[in-house]
Amino acid sequence: MSFYNPSQLVSSFEESATLALSAKAKKLAASGKSVINFGVGEPDFNTPKSFIEAAFKAAEKGQTKYTAVGGTPNLRETVAAKISRDYRVAYSAEEVLVSSGGKQAIFHFLQATVEPGDEVIILSPYWVSFPEMVKMVGGRPIIVNAKSQRITADEIAAKISPKTKAIILNSPSNPSGLVFTREEVESYSKLLLNKNIWLLCDDTYYKLIYSPAEWVSPLHLHPELKEKTCLIGSASKSYAMTGWRLGWALGPKPLIAAMTKLQSQVTSNPSSLSQAAAEEALKNGDSFVEDFRKIFEKRRNLVISELQKIPGLQWMEPEGAFYIFIDFSKLIPNVTDFCEKLLDRDGVCLIPGEAFGAPSYARLSYALSDADIKEGIRRIEVGLKALT
Ligand code: GLU
Repeated sequence: MSFYNPSQLVSSFEESATLALSAKAKKLAASGKSVINFGVGEPDFNTPKSFIEAAFKAAEKGQTKYTAVGGTPNLRETVAAKISRDYRVAYSAEEVLVSSGGKQAIFHFLQATVEPGDEVIILSPYWVSFPEMVKMVGGRPIIVNAKSQRITADEIAAKISPKTKAIILNSPSNPSGLVFTREEVESYSKLLLNKNIWLLCDDTYYKLIYSPAEWVSPLHLHPELKEKTCLIGSASKSYAMTGWRLGWALGPKPLIAAMTKLQSQVTSNPSSLSQAAAEEALKNGDSFVEDFRKIFEKRRNLVISELQKIPGLQWMEPEGAFYIFIDFSKLIPNVTDFCEKLLDRDGVCLIPGEAFGAPSYARLSYALSDADIKEGIRRIEVGLKALT
């Protein structure tokens, strides 16, 4: 018997399934098993050398001390300039918080806005951490389940109540790779124009879009939403910098000040060296992002052509990010059990859709080499045959 009893807070939410399962896959691989890890959403590329060198130079110059809590003035200005260009809305450095990953920024947004019992609208399938973070701050996640794959504004409107504090939009979406169309963005934005509801845009993957999809932000169509919008971005996926833990939030000054106050008591500043690397990435990294994007697009096409060889599988057609969300409902009754068997027996890791709000699906992250993608999908086929 342990002296430790989990607190109410710890008991109120689930561990991150993406991280837990991927850790299991890595452990199995370390023990000598051949494992294809389609689990965690993490580019397989190394961080570009020039970003690493920027961090190295910063360290040599003595930038190894605390920085301002919300990020160095230079990085905040760089983020503000980039976001102002990309969103065509002017942001200043005071409207930027730099955090240890986009995840931390999302959490501080929720801590800064949500009162106990407040509702936060989340579109399904959703990234695993959204509902759990809402629960952690005492809020209620309100899930919008689409009748078809694409969610309509009416379906969202039906969930809005006097208790709605915020809505989270994530395009391209993790886990589906879906990108909201211009019409969808317009119809979702209109819902918010005359309401006191925060809009949290998790735009982690906005640089990873595949033709013919186009990325449209609510701020492109309705810049006036800026006063009630919090934008989230990250160096992790576009710049292959997951381990550096560097993300940002942009929003109205009082919101950013509140989030910075929270961060001051929790982690202080994000790593000074990660900030130096991210500044280089944001200033001079566009060509790397474009190279990565093209590679991911080819892999998306490869994944689809390999999956087409397996009868009975369906999926949401991914238009961005590096995920494909596969529907196994025609073939197997319990996808969570299947994923466990796949990992233990066939050495391939998928994340069960349960954690994303869609139990008949599983998420495959195709941030792997072509050879691994082919081998992994072959193993999925073998795994399915063993069951049917
Ligand atoms: N966001 C990535 C994923 O969905 C990284 C892991 C996590 O933070 O959940 O796999």
